[in-house]
Amino acid sequence: MSRFWSNVTQGLTPYVPGEQPKLANLIKLNTNENPYGPSPMAIDAIHAATDESLRLYPDPNADRLKDAIATRHELERRQVFVGNGSDEVLAHAFLGLLKHPQPILFPDITYSFYPVYCGLYEIAYETVPLADDFSIRVADYVRTNANACGGIIFPNPNAPTGKALTRSEVEQIVAANPDTVVVIDEAYIDFGGESAIPLIARYPNLLVVHTLSKSRSLAGLRVGFAVGSAELIDGLERVKNSFNSYPLDRLAIAGAVAAMEDEAHFEQTCAAVIATRERLVEQLRELGFEVIPSAANFVLARHPQHDAEKSVLALRRQGIIVRHFKLPRIDQHLRITVGTDEQCAALIAALREIISA
Ligand code: PMP
Repeated sequence: MSRFWSNVTQGLTPYVPGEQPKLANLIKLNTNENPYGPSPMAIDAIHAATDESLRLYPDPNADRLKDAIATRHELERRQVFVGNGSDEVLAHAFLGLLKHPQPILFPDITYSFYPVYCGLYEIAYETVPLADDFSIRVADYVRTNANACGGIIFPNPNAPTGKALTRSEVEQIVAANPDTVVVIDEAYIDFGGESAIPLIARYPNLLVVHTLSKSRSLAGLRVGFAVGSAELIDGLERVKNSFNSYPLDRLAIAGAVAAMEDEAHFEQTCAAVIATRERLVEQLRELGFEVIPSAANFVLARHPQHDAEKSVLALRRQGIIVRHFKLPRIDQHLRITVGTDEQCAALIAALREIISA
């Protein structure tokens, strides 16, 4: 604490991202990065944009990128908002669309940045327990009185469980709350979930947030976006233009446009991650792990006879890092990012050794 800090700063509990260790030769399965590189077209575009024009500010509206996203998702530019990673997009959604007198709702086990934004922006929230099988129960978000909550947000697939709702389940929640913004954080949707984007034409209260960090393999470039009705997007633009006029730099815009246009690379790398995930789940189950069915690029698994924290440390000694959350209900689980086949084979070999020791 410092006497120079504001009251808000003193009260913050910041988000702690997964480690980015500086050690060489690690098998890094802890932050849900894509094991394959981004589109070579994105890298070329970033190189091509690296010239003397960097002395100029970028387009504050990143219209080229909005157009590439709009084309990809069959939307209009005014239905697209872009930001510096989906974390920034989410932050603006919390302040601009979810801060109301009534508490907002999100699951008890979910992306741990949500309560952090609530702390930063002083937004009241209620957590809604997941079912025993870790699924989101649609009925819990169908409030009889639409004014009962100030907004709803959850990831689909949920993180860190990997469990997905179908589009029609998401629709039931959105349709049941017509006067409330429902934010669906689809950071992992491209690994097997059904996107809610086709619903935005019918539901002005639906905001869908995506990132280029996972399925487009550009976590280092920091690009995310939201799509929704022009009304919601306008709200986000107002917040953005009261915070940072140029959240996306010239290189990020160039790389992100090219990545959005390279459908072949996107499809091929997502298919590879999904195929590896299915093998990984099977092999973990063979070792006795209980694995939650995942539609994401990670799995959440627990071994009934082996303490999670000890396993994490034992893996680390072998140069493999996975994520462990010391949180109620999941403190005996490991969250494992799907790597390449070789990385997953090394993980399985290490786990086999750990559980037979
Ligand atoms: N939403 C969820 C559910 C996530 O797990 C993450 C990654 N930590 C993000 C959003 C943010 O991703 P980024 O800021 O890289 O777009």
